[in-house]
Amino acid sequence: MQRASTLREVPGAVPPSASAIRIQDLEKIYDTRDGNRIQALGPLSLDIAEREFVTIVGPSGCGKSTLLRLLAGLMDRTSGEIRIRDRAIVGPQRDIGMVFQSPVLLPWKTTLANVLLPAKVLGLDMQASRKRAQELLGLVGLGDFQEKYPNELSGGMQQRVSIARALLHEPSILLMDEPFGALDAMTRETMNLELRRIWRESGKTILFVTHSIPEAVFLGSRVLVLSPRPGRIADLVSVDLPDERDLDTMASDRFGQFSRRIRSQFQSHGGLE
Ligand code: ADP
Repeated sequence: MQRASTLREVPGAVPPSASAIRIQDLEKIYDTRDGNRIQALGPLSLDIAEREFVTIVGPSGCGKSTLLRLLAGLMDRTSGEIRIRDRAIVGPQRDIGMVFQSPVLLPWKTTLANVLLPAKVLGLDMQASRKRAQELLGLVGLGDFQEKYPNELSGGMQQRVSIARALLHEPSILLMDEPFGALDAMTRETMNLELRRIWRESGKTILFVTHSIPEAVFLGSRVLVLSPRPGRIADLVSVDLPDERDLDTMASDRFGQFSRRIRSQFQSHGGLE
């Protein structure tokens, strides 16, 4: 008891229960051009802890991208609240990096220059950013590809460049919207392994949208299962598999149990894709 009150008195002390992201009664209703209102998401409440890896699955059109865009501050919510480290979001967030489904690299710029793009936009120190970009390319396994152009890289490599770019300004939160959806199965497995490694080494909080139940279980420390539109929490599964995961993990009984539980949620909502 005494220890708790002492903690509160220390200026700047982070209480042990601090959330990276706190979502409360979040709702998004789109007004369409023809005057209709589409309730896309919520109400949804969820706390995400620092360094958590939360994967998000749900049927097409249930509001997954909407949720990520709201979290990134790229769009206004209809109601509810989002707090990042206890600060309400009111616009694009600097502490967030976003990776989209397609890598969107500039074809006339080298790998290194593509990673450096946010440095210009955000007015970061170019020399420090260049060094950081090189380190990040090493982190995503592309240290030898700095001077290559996007068309000289495979799809998986291009997506790794976009991950490095999203990390350049040192955001502590990474939002990933189906980043590996367009990759072939083998490349996708490699990317999953890489991303787990990056997550462990970088200590980021990651939210990752996917259509793949095995991918959600493999990557996530928790899996958020959304219902068909309007997306609400259908299930929230803590994946207590070991932190060190490899391809054998996917063959384990425990992995199968988690996957079946999530699949049954989809089936009970009639939204299996
Ligand atoms: P998901 O990512 O799960 O596929 P989205 O978040 O993209 O779903 O969309 C959720 C719902 O909101 C869908 O029914 C979609 O058609 C609708 N929607 C998305 N963006 C808009 C928009 N700008 N205007 C109107 N409706 C939208």
